[in-house]
Amino acid sequence: MIRQCHFHMDEDVEGVPLSDGAFEFVCTRTGHPAGRDWSWLEMPPAPSSSTLGGLADELALADVLPEVVEALGDGWFEVGLVERAYAQKDPAGFGLMVDRWGHSAWGVQLAYSATTYLARTLGELSRQGLVSYHGGVGTGRWKYNSDISWWARVPAPPWESRTSWADLLGDDPNTDPCLEYVLQPT
Ligand SMILES: [Zn+2]
Repeated sequence: MIRQCHFHMDEDVEGVPLSDGAFEFVCTRTGHPAGRDWSWLEMPPAPSSSTLGGLADELALADVLPEVVEALGDGWFEVGLVERAYAQKDPAGFGLMVDRWGHSAWGVQLAYSATTYLARTLGELSRQGLVSYHGGVGTGRWKYNSDISWWARVPAPPWESRTSWADLLGDDPNTDPCLEYVLQPT
């Protein structure tokens, strides 16, 4: 899959496939924020793709998600922490996503979930240069995920400066911190 860097629209970047049908892109030319490589993520579209743009627009995610990432502070944050912060900022908006796509906190295997949708939307924002993306692994309850996204403000901080899910919420297999903000199916 070929895409163009937001900061170098004249040059093609070849995507590297991750698990779950996602692609990671890295442009190594000079001229990016903070003088680092620019990376972005493209997640697969939602099964009900006709409603994807609608919900993102309705919830103003292009404005809200960069604010959520900014408010998390300095450094990089595992995607679960971005999701949690978003759910706390707009419980109704997050509830719409969970209603539509479900969540792993329901304890069932889901091909697509509210988490996937948020990562996809963040990926689109990283393509536009509005948030910084870095690939990594999941921690705590997300550690089953060997390809998980990490997010930071623009310009991106050094990768050494990062906060994982387990750093903030631990790794207790008997409790799922997501249940504090993910409602069960009705
Ligand atoms: Zn570039």
